[in-house]
Amino acid sequence: MSSSSANPGVVLFVSTLFLLISFHDPKPPPLTPLEQQARNKQERYERLLPKLTMKRTMYDNISMHAPDDRFVCTVSLKKARWYIKKELADACPFAEGESLSKITLRFHPDKSELEGKSEEQVKFQQRVKKNICVACGSDSGQYMRHYIVPSTLRHWFPKKYKSHHSHDIVILCPACHARVMPATGRRLTGMERVAIFRQPPAARDPHIIIRENMEVHNAAVALDKHAGSMPALALEKHRQRVARWCGVEASELGAECIRKAIGARTREDNPLYVCPAKLIVEAMGGDDEELAFFVKEWRRFFTETAEPKHMPEGWGIDSPVTNESMVDLRGGGFTEYVRKTDEMGRDLPRTFHPDSAAGRRVAAE
Ligand SMILES: [Zn+2]
Repeated sequence: MSSSSANPGVVLFVSTLFLLISFHDPKPPPLTPLEQQARNKQERYERLLPKLTMKRTMYDNISMHAPDDRFVCTVSLKKARWYIKKELADACPFAEGESLSKITLRFHPDKSELEGKSEEQVKFQQRVKKNICVACGSDSGQYMRHYIVPSTLRHWFPKKYKSHHSHDIVILCPACHARVMPATGRRLTGMERVAIFRQPPAARDPHIIIRENMEVHNAAVALDKHAGSMPALALEKHRQRVARWCGVEASELGAECIRKAIGARTREDNPLYVCPAKLIVEAMGGDDEELAFFVKEWRRFFTETAEPKHMPEGWGIDSPVTNESMVDLRGGGFTEYVRKTDEMGRDLPRTFHPDSAAGRRVAAE
């Protein structure tokens, strides 16, 4: 059989297929409401991203040295400048075009600050902190500060827990942040729901509806939007309700009064309501063991969700959760005050830490 005598059935099938392909609509199928919601959320996040990322790197890594040149720790540029301004330290010379990278204290820091600490703690305190995503190692330049224990919870912690929080603040790149945050949010929301439902019903809602105002508001909205199509009886009822609220006769009810009624305050703060994050922390009653367990569980959760491959050296789930000593691991400063000693090791008047309230007062002087 020659090629010119092709089977007519096959020819018809191929032509139909060709036609179908030619007329096939190249547009993708419409998104389902859930898919659309997810896309909107993603677009919103991408629009917000420039505002969410840090404007500068998180760690300046200025090395702080004792007068005998012993390395003490790394500090932020802000703290280094504070020490210099308060004449507690000198900037080490740096060449033109370079920036400050080392300061030397004018006093001998308390030697006990490194004593009695585990090797991990000392490493953590003295490490040069890398400005990279702790999860994937990205150094793209776009970084976000991530609180391993959500800051809304940490806010209600006893003070001694807050002074150690740098241990649990890490850098994530936007992609890893977007991966970790939904799971973190779900965990926090779950805890908050439990805390709220342990409250009496009257204390569960942050707001109380002002019923009379709500009814007036609804009547005014109905008049504004549907007055033309409303049954006469309902129209009269709504007009009377709004007019009474405005203090005028129904026959005198005007657009201005309806506009005012639409803006009526429909809810007020519930005095019985307590922020759920506060309830969660208060439920632990300030018990050190419970709080330590709570923090460590958040650390564990972070390692499971972010799967970080670049955590700072010395960081660990079981590292201490408080900082009882003077040293603030945040940047190598001192939690409440800088202990100054003279050449003989005698205490000199104390200087407050730049981040403490007293320190800020001193800095402002
Ligand atoms: Zn990353």
